[in-house]
Amino acid sequence: MENQYDIVVIGSGPGGYVSAIRAAQLGYRVAIVEKYNTLGGTCTNVGCIPAKALLDSSEHYHQAKDQFHAHGIQVDNIALDFTQFIRRKSEVVQQNTSGLVYLMKKNKIDVHTGVGSFVDKTHLKVTGTDKTTVLTSRYFVIATGSKPSSIPGVTIDKQRIITSTEGLSLAARPASMVIIGGGVIGVEMASVYARIGTEVTIIEYTDSLIPTMDKELGKALQKTLSKLHIRVLLNSKVQSAANTGTSASVQFLDAAGQTQQLTADYCMVAVGRKAYTEGLNLSAVGITPEKNGKIKVDAQLQTSVPNIYAIGDVIDGPMLAHKAEEEGTFVAEVIHGLKPHIKYDFIPSVVYTWPEVAAAGATEEQLKAQGVTYKVGKFPYLASARARASMDTDGFVKVLVSPQYGEVLGVHIIGPRAADVIAQCVVSMEYEITAGELAHLCYAHPTYSEALKDAYLVATGQGAINI
Ligand code: FAD
Ligand code: NAD
Repeated sequence: MENQYDIVVIGSGPGGYVSAIRAAQLGYRVAIVEKYNTLGGTCTNVGCIPAKALLDSSEHYHQAKDQFHAHGIQVDNIALDFTQFIRRKSEVVQQNTSGLVYLMKKNKIDVHTGVGSFVDKTHLKVTGTDKTTVLTSRYFVIATGSKPSSIPGVTIDKQRIITSTEGLSLAARPASMVIIGGGVIGVEMASVYARIGTEVTIIEYTDSLIPTMDKELGKALQKTLSKLHIRVLLNSKVQSAANTGTSASVQFLDAAGQTQQLTADYCMVAVGRKAYTEGLNLSAVGITPEKNGKIKVDAQLQTSVPNIYAIGDVIDGPMLAHKAEEEGTFVAEVIHGLKPHIKYDFIPSVVYTWPEVAAAGATEEQLKAQGVTYKVGKFPYLASARARASMDTDGFVKVLVSPQYGEVLGVHIIGPRAADVIAQCVVSMEYEITAGELAHLCYAHPTYSEALKDAYLVATGQGAINI
């Protein structure tokens, strides 16, 4: 019957659309509700995909301008067409959102455009611009994601005090930008703009960039970002930011506790994101978000209401697209009575700077805090023939291995194509392949992934063998 479903998914980000597709594959009648006119959520529209498109374009420009000559390639009059730079990004987004429309049709998933709000445990009202519909469903999956957060003293006005969302669609290349926060968004957006000639300063509260990752990665990343002339101010606390009309003015306490002021074309706020549940009318079903705004779920990702599940950025855990996707599949399979599992410890983290940063498993800091003994195997890309060939010698592979069984406890990489190399590390941890076994696999030569073999050889006491 019309508007009667087995499963209604609220939110069409990577959590929501994957959940809807998996549920449809399992034979359920499924609808997806999205308040915006395009599908794909943060990731596809204003997150992963547009950010990667601009990262790629800016890296091409930077290479053509500053590195081609070393390869013997002379290119004159290199210039950036900023309008085309942004337009290509929008085209990439559009290709992906159209792909999702196709996938919804292919899987016979009904798309309802409008804000979904609960009427009761089996009914959801969808308020669109020109009509209101009420959907009936046996199950609901809340996948409403997150929005940027700010800090006291800083009001995002989307004009001069902006977030990554505005930063992905600026009208002209800024001459200068201050970024508050040296986390993932901070360093990725800093890379985009510094590569195309914007004077970028990152103000970070803690003592390192990407502070939740292994400390050595943050240090190495800072070194490589300094080659792009990105200024990094650590141990610095932003107190306020103001739109002066023609610029943004940021006041902060520096590492010595002195008040400082910076002025730039834009101030981008990248201090984390908060779960988004506005408009859902959760009180109608008796769900109260936690203090940090997230929805509490159990090990089955079930909320306090048995037929309502929640996934992705709106619940606890890393705010990552692939984590949301895994949870999307998980919930559909749980509803179907299957027994899926997610190994949260091995969800990889990737930062798309150049070189890229990627990690899975425990950091050295975590192992120390837990009193776990470990051996370190490290191999620098400076010693890799593949990296020398492409002039990508910054960075290293670091593996952390249990001395007793050779179990891989963590892998931390900063280097070329680290985002792709990390996949093997996830496999090895998930299936408990030992460092000794990994050291004796045959890796193609010369490759970036070969550096892993040497790191495992070092960790198992033999010593590196390749160049
Ligand atoms: P979202 O993608 O946020 O989707 C939620 C959807 O729900 C939205 O479309 C929203 O409009 C809709 N919605 C909300 N409330 C309602 C309602 N009441 N009714 C109807 N619809 C509603 N992660 C990575 O893994 N890799 C990356 O490279 C990466 N890069 C990023 C770059 C940037 C600049 C940003 C901001 C984020 C990035 N992320 C990345 C994080 C990633 O985007 C999120 O973790 C991911 O999108 C979360 O997916 P989700 O499905 O939980 O929610
Ligand atoms: P984040 O948590 O990665 O970093 C926020 C940074 O801001 C931290 O380093 C924190 O110490 C700093 N900070 C907080 N308050 C501050 C203050 N008052 N002054 C100065 N610095 C301050 O958050 P983000 O970079 O905003 O990213 C949000 C989410 O989006 C993250 O959870 C991330 O996982 C996700 N994301 C992922 C990717 C990727 O996977 N490549 C890319 C972009 C975003």
